Amino acid sequence: MKVTEHLDRATGPLISFEIIPPLRGGNVQELLGLIEDLVRYRPPFIDITSHAAEVIYEEKAQGIERRVKRKRPGTLGVCALIQNKWRVDAVPHILCRGFTREETEDFLIELRYLGIDNVLAVRGDDSGYVKPLQHGRSANLYAADLVRQIADMNRGKYLEEDLLDAEPSDFCVGVGGYAEKHFEAPNLLTDIRRTKEKVDAGADYVVTQMFFDNPAYFRYVELCREEGIDVPIIPGIKILTSKKQLTSIPRVFYVDIPEALSLEVENAPAEQAEDVGVEWALEQSRELLDRGVPAIHFYVMQSSRAIQKLLGKLAVAPALAARSV
Ligand SMILES: Cc1cc2nc3c(=O)[nH]c(=O)nc-3n(C[C@H](O)[C@H](O)[C@H](O)COP(=O)(O)OP(=O)(O)OC[C@H]3O[C@@H](n4cnc5c(N)ncnc54)[C@H](O)[C@@H]3O)c2cc1C
Repeated sequence: MKVTEHLDRATGPLISFEIIPPLRGGNVQELLGLIEDLVRYRPPFIDITSHAAEVIYEEKAQGIERRVKRKRPGTLGVCALIQNKWRVDAVPHILCRGFTREETEDFLIELRYLGIDNVLAVRGDDSGYVKPLQHGRSANLYAADLVRQIADMNRGKYLEEDLLDAEPSDFCVGVGGYAEKHFEAPNLLTDIRRTKEKVDAGADYVVTQMFFDNPAYFRYVELCREEGIDVPIIPGIKILTSKKQLTSIPRVFYVDIPEALSLEVENAPAEQAEDVGVEWALEQSRELLDRGVPAIHFYVMQSSRAIQKLLGKLAVAPALAARSV
């Protein structure tokens, strides 16, 4: 079922999760255990991130070696598992960077055959690797271009123009939004206009980058509405779980951590940092739910410990038995 159908049919706010595939050669059992923990809360959908190849420089005896590595494959396999083992709708992320449009079309065909109805279309960050375009291959530059490609396919327009009687796909398309603006955008309003372009191109809903300050989200939604973005804007919440994240989160995701939170984490013993993060995200979640958000999307990534603490306090009860079939 499409994310938008879940939202339309919901009688109350929904809880969804985002997870990350294991590192190449990593242990899939751990991920399966994580999913098992999460499906007990009956999420209508679970997002699985996508990862392009990156350029890695390694120091060798002969000098510095440049290698191109894709560290986290597996998005498609994890989606197939979630969808078919647990009967939860999987939302694979698809990227512009690192993939040709032709590869994207093939990926979308695989998803269609697997019965996956949803995708989240994002550009991807700069990984230092620019995929060479040979033999007439092409690339999407911005997420709006990717959304256009999916919307075309939804109308039966594939990349091969002379494909006759091509069946249209019917993907529900989510895109990213940034309550504190995307780091490359000159200002918030310009960034919001870019998000409007994604919606005009066919995006059905927006999920925000993590934020730790609810007023930033409420203001963002207000500005998006003024700009004519009328699709659901789902807040994305991450639980801060360690002191180290006080610096790594702003560095990697370009988001602010409010002073009250950073002070509390700094002053807490290391082993209590996660509990401070849980309490903060709990208060954020309570306020978001009070204000009637359609859903909360939790960036869980690799461990369910903190989210289980939070959902326990938020009184979201796990189902007695997992829905594994
Ligand atoms: C919910 C969510 C999930 C994510 N999942 C993943 C993932 O699985 N894998 C991953 O690698 N990354 C992921 N990301 C990170 C994302 O790829 C990066 O934030 C990336 O830098 C921007 O992606 P975007 O889709 O928002 O890009 P875009 O919408 O293309 O915007 C990128 C920047 O370009 C600007 N811009 C847009 N159009 C134009 C234009 N025509 N001319 C000039 N400027 C323009 C925008 O204002 C913005 O500053 C995710 C982000 C979010 C919010």
